[in-house]
Amino acid sequence: MNERPEEWASRGIDITKPSIARAYDVVLHGKDNFEADRAFVAEIARLIPEIYDVAAYNRQILGRGVRFLAEQGIRQFLDLGSGLPTVENTHQVAQRVAPDANVVYVDNDPIVLAHGRALLAENDHTTVVTADLRDPRSVLNDPDVTRLIDFDRPVAVLLVGILHHLHDDEDPQGIVKTYMDAVPSGSHLFVTHFCASSQEARDAEKQYLALLGTGRFRTVEEITAYFDGLDLLEPGVVPLPLWRPDGPVPPESELTVGQKLMYGGIARKP
Ligand code: SAM
Repeated sequence: MNERPEEWASRGIDITKPSIARAYDVVLHGKDNFEADRAFVAEIARLIPEIYDVAAYNRQILGRGVRFLAEQGIRQFLDLGSGLPTVENTHQVAQRVAPDANVVYVDNDPIVLAHGRALLAENDHTTVVTADLRDPRSVLNDPDVTRLIDFDRPVAVLLVGILHHLHDDEDPQGIVKTYMDAVPSGSHLFVTHFCASSQEARDAEKQYLALLGTGRFRTVEEITAYFDGLDLLEPGVVPLPLWRPDGPVPPESELTVGQKLMYGGIARKP
């Protein structure tokens, strides 16, 4: 992309610092990123060379999870911290199972709107909203959200690869609870999260916080606590490749640092 900072600044985009959405685009081998994003990822890759695979595991579980939810009959998806469009986006997976499934993407990075709207909002059942998920009330009352999501019917709330970008003092668990309180019985919560599962992960956390400003690698217990009050579905909160895999996977004891770097799970609201 054109790397002249002043042109992007007029659109509210600072390309001199890495952004979460653009750094994630780098690890997914996308092209919506700048030198600062690539430099940040290069630093992380020095600690965790598998970081590109980790992003792939996250996209793969996103696909398996959304397909699973659509097969359970879920027809409404609120994808919070949705990221730049890539392959197998939530609406493509959900609408393959159920063409009438409604999907609302929410992200606070203006580049997601700039690059995402045309690609993501490709049918009447899908839209992109620019909002901060840390303000659940404004997300839940946004007219584009309420146009496509009926809060009297079950909703899948997706917080995939995003809650680790919330600091402890922002009360991520309370934010999750506010969303889940707003949806009826039969709704689901889908979370994936960086996990403090190795020394490499703890070292990476320091680099994330120093260079990107966010990135809390929480314990399995802390990640599991997001699902408090919900019925955690099998196999629970596990390393991403182990969540309802499509093919054979190694036993947990043989997983690599990268395969254990993120944990995830899905729960149903009773
Ligand atoms: N959910 C996608 C996935 O897992 O493939 C994308 C994950 S990406 C690592 C996290 C996204 O969350 C980025 O696009 C970032 O801009 C967005 N994000 C970060 N903080 C946010 C906030 N407070 N409100 C809304 N979106 C946010």
